[in-house]
Amino acid sequence: MQPSGNELTYSKLALGFLEKHRLLPTPEHYAIGYYYCMGRNRELIDEIDKLTANTIPFTPSITAQLYQKYIIATSQQKSADAVATNAQRILADVIKVIHEFSSGTKDYHQGIDQYVGDISDRFKGTGVEHLVEELVKTTVGMRQRSEKISKKLEESTQEIKTLKQSLQQVSAEAQRDFLTSVYNRKSFDGLAEEQLQAAREQQAELCLLMIDIDHFKQFNDRFGHLLGDEVLKVVAGTLTETLKGRDIVGRFGGEEFSVVLPETPLDGAMKVAEMIRSAIAGKELKRKDTGEMYGTITVSIGVARFHPGADTLASLIRRADDALYQSKRTGRNRVTREAA
Ligand code: GH3
Ligand code: MG
Ligand code: MG
Repeated sequence: MQPSGNELTYSKLALGFLEKHRLLPTPEHYAIGYYYCMGRNRELIDEIDKLTANTIPFTPSITAQLYQKYIIATSQQKSADAVATNAQRILADVIKVIHEFSSGTKDYHQGIDQYVGDISDRFKGTGVEHLVEELVKTTVGMRQRSEKISKKLEESTQEIKTLKQSLQQVSAEAQRDFLTSVYNRKSFDGLAEEQLQAAREQQAELCLLMIDIDHFKQFNDRFGHLLGDEVLKVVAGTLTETLKGRDIVGRFGGEEFSVVLPETPLDGAMKVAEMIRSAIAGKELKRKDTGEMYGTITVSIGVARFHPGADTLASLIRRADDALYQSKRTGRNRVTREAA
């Protein structure tokens, strides 16, 4: 690099300075003179001017002090600044590398060690390669841990989903009668109440059927309770097959079933009841394994129509029950509507 005009001027002035103060042309003296003539360092100039004013000679110890204080310290500061700038640049690179890793833009599955090696090569000679290596390894570890956590989280979510499904299944099962799978008394009552409320609000027609198996005690006595249970399943199955949509079928107790028919007027309900009665009466009961015949069974049915202004579920059931016993009294295997 060519010296600039200023630098040449300062060099000449510095030689004049050495001459003036009768200093040997050592690099230290020359440097002091040069810096003095450059006129930038106010403190150096003040100190030299003070020595000159007081005619204090520039002894070797004084010049050594000046050199240490104003030349070495200043250039050390400069190189410290350079180191800091360099460190900042390296740090920015390190941050970029770490970011690549933690944001997952680098597919480290292709070889973490290889990648870490490449990175430390990139920072070779900077003095921070080991630090970078450690940082990258820590980042990889963190990312692997966070992946493990999210995998665990995923598994837990799946477990919760399965649990939720089992819970739904359990609660659905809890609503059902264990033998016949129609609604048990408790859930039937709840669902029936909901439909009654809807009918009140919408001023809609609604009917309720009470169904009782005829002479069921005799059937049990003759064929045993286990076969009696099978008959209960057949009756429940016939009810669910015959009824559809929003109709609610429940096992009311023992060999009695109850059905809510929303949006159904009395005539319609009578038809549904008759369909049920004839479907059950038309079934030949046969033992599956031996083919042994048990004849037929029949049911008696009572039908009542909901009065939105006056009825409760209990009063509606009572009227359907009364009609049912009318069916029993008049010969069974028949459908009776509530008394007008
Ligand atoms: P009716 O025609 O007057 O209704 O006569 P019934 O014999 O059906 O009526 P009753 O009330 O005298 O007897 C009901 C019988 O239903 C008593 C019992 O043997 C039978 N029963 C009730 N619950 C069950 C059950 O869960 N399983 C079986 N197998 N039988 C049942
Ligand atoms: Mg009964
Ligand atoms: Mg009965």
